Amino acid sequence: MGFELFKALFTDKKLRKTRLEFCNKCEHKRDKWLTLFNEDSCSKCSCSIQKKVTLKNTSCPIDKW
Ligand code: SF4
Repeated sequence: MGFELFKALFTDKKLRKTRLEFCNKCEHKRDKWLTLFNEDSCSKCSCSIQKKVTLKNTSCPIDKW
């Protein structure tokens, strides 16, 4: 049951990698998150890229993935 919930909420390694490949090449990628943290973020949605690619129920705001 716990593992099923985990799988429902989070992406697997392969999907994270695919999403990251798009973000890493994207012109909207920034190297700060919330102007404070040294973490890649998306200037379109202001999300942390590392966190965003991990959550299953998310999408790229400009439909790259
Ligand atoms: S989520 Fe989409 S718009 Fe944002 S950095 Fe990734 S590919 Fe670019």
